Amino acid sequence: CGIVASVSTRNIVPILVQGLQRLEYRGYDSCGVAIYADGLKRARSTSRVTELMEQVSSDKLESGTGIAHTRWATHGAPAVHNAHPHFSHGTGEAANKPGKVALVHNGIIENHDELRAALQAKGYVFSSQTDTEVIVHLMDSLYDGDLFEALKAATRQLHGAYAIAAFCKDEPHRVVGARAGSPLILGVGKDKTENFLASDAMALAGVTDQILYLEEGDLVDMQLGKYWVIDREHKAVQREVKTVQAHS
Ligand code: GLU
Repeated sequence: CGIVASVSTRNIVPILVQGLQRLEYRGYDSCGVAIYADGLKRARSTSRVTELMEQVSSDKLESGTGIAHTRWATHGAPAVHNAHPHFSHGTGEAANKPGKVALVHNGIIENHDELRAALQAKGYVFSSQTDTEVIVHLMDSLYDGDLFEALKAATRQLHGAYAIAAFCKDEPHRVVGARAGSPLILGVGKDKTENFLASDAMALAGVTDQILYLEEGDLVDMQLGKYWVIDREHKAVQREVKTVQAHS
């Protein structure tokens, strides 16, 4: 339902959770946040965002890299194990080990059954009933040291509507995103060093008013101090950064 994500040199966890709070009015049944801190860490809740905020502070989740989500369940009951962010785990011996890729998703993946069957045949173990979890294992299966390449290859196989934000523990200062059928914007933050993704510019009110509206089919690669947008044909494109009116 709602997405907020960032790469920064400061702790952005409070900004991510406050961003979710600004998206609460859209409705949701669960929420969660994942960060990079010597690997993937996350907190998820079927309660309100304020409860997630308490978990985040008691677990001392702090990082410059993170993704956050409010979920409105379409596939799989509202439950903690179905709440985003989802993690990949790898296959075989690694299937129960801490994951490599963390991902949030808005929308619906229409061909999730066939993708899940193909990934299970490769040894991927699923821990939720969501359509979303196929994307994170698909990216893990395609990952060869470059998360943006994995996203490019994965989105070629996805049918349906999605806004995606993901990061990988092997490239901690990078967050990648995709927009097809669900909105996603990029926000250029402080000193043009930190970058954000969100499903709505309102999520970033008070954080940045420098907003780039991704177009249908766009993919985005965010790192510290730089970002890169390509279109559905994977051609590099320049999208205008606009100054938006601050929302309250
Ligand atoms: N289809 C996904 C799920 O059920 C995402 C739903 C959403 O957009 O929040 O988990």
